Formats: sequence, C-alpha cells, structure tokens
Amino acid sequence: MKEPMNAQLSISPETPEGVARNARHQYKVERVCTQLRHRQSRTPLSRHKKVVSHMVPKVHDKKYSDEKINVHDFNEIIEVDPKRRICIAEPGVPFCTLVEHTLPLGLVPIVVPELKTITIGGAVAGCSIESMSYRFGGFHDTCFEYEIITARGEVLICTPDNEHSLIFQMMHGSFGTVGILSKLVFRLVEAKPFVHLKHEMHQSIDSYLASIWSHFENQDVDFMDGIIHSPTRLALCVGDFVDSAPYTNRYDWLKVYYQSTARRSEDFLKTPHYFFRYDHGVTNVHPKSFLGRLLLGKFLGSSQILRIAEKMRWFFLSDDRPDVTVDTFLPFSRLKEFLEWYARDFGHFPLWVVPYRRVHDYEWLADTFWKGLSDRLMVDIAIYGMKQRGETNYYRLMEEKLKELNGIKTLISYNYYTEDEFWEIFHRDNFARVKAITDPDNIFRTLFEKTCH
Ligand SMILES: Cc1cc2nc3c(=O)[nH]c(=O)nc-3n(C[C@H](O)[C@H](O)[C@H](O)COP(=O)(O)OP(=O)(O)OC[C@H]3O[C@@H](n4cnc5c(N)ncnc54)[C@H](O)[C@@H]3O)c2cc1C
Repeated sequence: MKEPMNAQLSISPETPEGVARNARHQYKVERVCTQLRHRQSRTPLSRHKKVVSHMVPKVHDKKYSDEKINVHDFNEIIEVDPKRRICIAEPGVPFCTLVEHTLPLGLVPIVVPELKTITIGGAVAGCSIESMSYRFGGFHDTCFEYEIITARGEVLICTPDNEHSLIFQMMHGSFGTVGILSKLVFRLVEAKPFVHLKHEMHQSIDSYLASIWSHFENQDVDFMDGIIHSPTRLALCVGDFVDSAPYTNRYDWLKVYYQSTARRSEDFLKTPHYFFRYDHGVTNVHPKSFLGRLLLGKFLGSSQILRIAEKMRWFFLSDDRPDVTVDTFLPFSRLKEFLEWYARDFGHFPLWVVPYRRVHDYEWLADTFWKGLSDRLMVDIAIYGMKQRGETNYYRLMEEKLKELNGIKTLISYNYYTEDEFWEIFHRDNFARVKAITDPDNIFRTLFEKTCH
C-alpha cells in the first residue's frame, strides 16, 4: 500500500494526543454510566446530542418529552491508523468532520451518507446508505467493533465474533432501542482528491436496470446511484476517484445536483463536494427557487432546514397527513414491477436510486423475510416530500406493496404497521434476546413503540 499523504494527521493511541483522547472518552463513558446506574425512574429515556437528527421530524414524537441522557460531547475522533486503514471514533462525529480529517491521509470512510451532519452513530442506529453501497452495503457493514452502554450503565464491547455478537448485529437499525452506542471501530478506504462522474440517461426501465446489473456484476466503478426524473428519463450516475480534474463543479449554493443529472453527461467534483452533493436536499431541495437559493442557499444546508422544521414543527408539519419521505428497499428482481406500480399509483418524481449489495443476512430481519429473498442486490428507492392526495394513506399503501414484493422500508419517518405485521418483518426474538441483556426494563422502548404511529 502506498504511504499516506500526511502521516502526521494519523492519531495513534501511543502519542500524548492519543492518550488524552482515550482518557477523555473514558471520562465521558463513566459520566453516562453513573447517571444510568443512579437513575431511580424507569420511564423512557432518549439521548440529547449536539447536531440535529436526520429522522423525519414528527410533531408528536415521544422523544421530545422524554427525560434526556446527555451524550452531546461524544463527538471526537479517537484514533486513525492509516496503515491498518481503521478509525476509532465516538458516535456523534458527523461524516463531514470525518472526511475532512481522513481525506488528507488519502482515506475516507467506506460509506459516506450524503448529508454533512449525519453522524456515524446515527448511520448505524438509523440506516445509512450511499453510492458505494452497491459494493459494500451500509456504513454498519464497514464497522467491526462497537462499545455500547446498557440501560443499567454497563459497558459492553461487541464484535461480530465475541459473546456479544448478536448485540453487535442488532445495533444497526435499532433506533436507540438496544443501548447507547459510545464508540465505533470501522474501516477506511483509499480515496483520491476528485470524482469523475458519468451520467447515463436511459429511456426505459429495462435498459436502466440492465445497466445497474452490469455495473453490479462487473464492480467496475467506485460509485453508483441514480435519479429517476420520470419513467422515461432515468439517470444512472456512475463515478470514479481520480487524481486530477479539468474543471470542478459544486452543488452547495446555486446549482442543484439532481437537476444536473438530466442536463450533463459528465462532471468533475472535488471529493468532499461529491460526498455531500445532496446536502441541500436530495430531490426535495430548499430553497426551491433560484432567487431563494441566491439569497439564502449558502446558509441553508440539511442541518439548518431540519433544525427549523423541528423547532417550528407545530406550525409547518402535520402528523395527520404528513408528506411522504421514505427509503424503500426492493429486491432487484422485483424492481421493474415496483417502478411500474409506483408510476401508476404514486406518480411522484424524481426518485433517488441507490443499489445496495446484500453483504449479510441481517439478524434484525425476521427469518420469514429472508426465506422469500434470493437476490444478491437490493435497490433503495427514496421518495422525498411527496404531498399525499385525497383520502389515501400513501405510507400505508407503500407498506402493503412492499410486503407483496418482499421489500422493506427504513423506519426513519411514519410507520403504520400493526404490532403483529411489524414483527413479521423484524426479528422479535432477536430483539427480545438482546434487550434482556442491554435494556431489561425497556427504558429505551421497543422498536415497535419507538418507530410506529
Ligand atoms: C430528509 C432526509 C434525507 C436523508 N438523506 C439521506 C442520505 O442522503 N443518505 C443516507 O444515508 N441517509 C439519509 N437519510 C437517513 C439518515 O441517514 C438516517 O436517518 C440516519 O439515522 C440519521 O443519522 P443522524 O446522525 O442524524 O442520527 P439521529 O437522527 O440523531 O438518530 C437516528 C436514530 O439512531 C439513534 N441513535 C443515534 N445515535 C445513537 C447512539 N449513539 N446510540 C444509540 N442510538 C443512536 C437515534 O435514537 C435515532 O433513533 C435521510 C433522512 C432524511 C430525513
């Protein structure tokens, strides 16, 4: 492997700086454990962190009235080892900070979600994907050790192979219900300063899917995602790291990345600008008008928009007819059927498309779910900000269709499953097994209680 560009940026546990970072981390963990051990009440508890949450804000989310555990300072990078290409960090580190730190070393996290302030803990406990997912799955698939604080204030080290392997696997998509993630160890991958993008425009679903499949089979690009502008204008965006660029574009003020995929066949971006090209919204960009972006666009990234939505939720949002924002995961073999149905019954475009390799049969999904699935490739189809029409509950309509097609959706927004339906998809026994160790009094709530309407 070639020598990293700036070896001095690596953080080693042997240096005074590394020792100090580890000591600070121990102190924080002890503080949280003490608070949990001395807590008398068994009422639900949520975390209070520094950067805004990227869950879809809900007016009546129970987390707003919960007692809080303070984890706002769990936001340090503890160690970067460029030789072994690993990073150890606290869960509140946002991806933009991580990339800023590791890129000068010629390395980046293997999966970098597209919004700057998504944190590494949120990426594991929520659900995060991006254009490297067609090769590597989700960010959690690149992690190999978690430190977890239980509801009773114990610290567990969980790896895929030790006695806490089930807890390790169940952290992903647990939405804070299994325990508090306090430290993560994950792999990094070699990176270059620029990304060269090619936007392939397809006129039919068949040709679009054939191209996705060909790139998946050949693993011939570093990045693959796409924007479906309409059923006859489907852009597939494939990219590679490159050392130099004849020009660069950025999409964090006046220009909108998803719109560019319909206009340009090629583009060059600096690597950080590529990773966070959707930070002003993937397909639901704010401000929408050119004038609005000219005046405010520089200051309104995803973080600011979500913060405003959260603070003003009583004025702007409704839990009765919420806009539809949802990530759906379809087996590749059922995608054509899904897209044809979607165009008829939803008809809301553009859509964000993220192919996702099935790297592991996740323990948090029910056995019956896996039994019906032979695909090696799943595809995330993400819908942002669709207005609901008439009396139809479009979230519910989607849940029913996904069940029919052996798909799932992430739980980041509104979920209308009955409890029985829910546990046909998610693995009730595995959740019960880990909760018995990490949260026997259920102060973090069950996954159903936390995420369903
Ligand atoms: C408008 C919008 C756009 C999005 N776009 C993208 C995108 O482009 N790419 C992408 O990958 N994802 C996207 N997401 C999804 C996003 O990645 C997930 O919602 C992710 O979980 C958010 O991480 P966060 O750091 O904001 O965590 P939070 O929102 O704070 O937390 C997410 C969940 O994880 C739990 N959690 C967080 N930290 C911990 C911890 N330390 N211990 C235990 N539990 C914890 C929380 O309790 C919560 O239930 C988007 C979501 C929205 C709403």
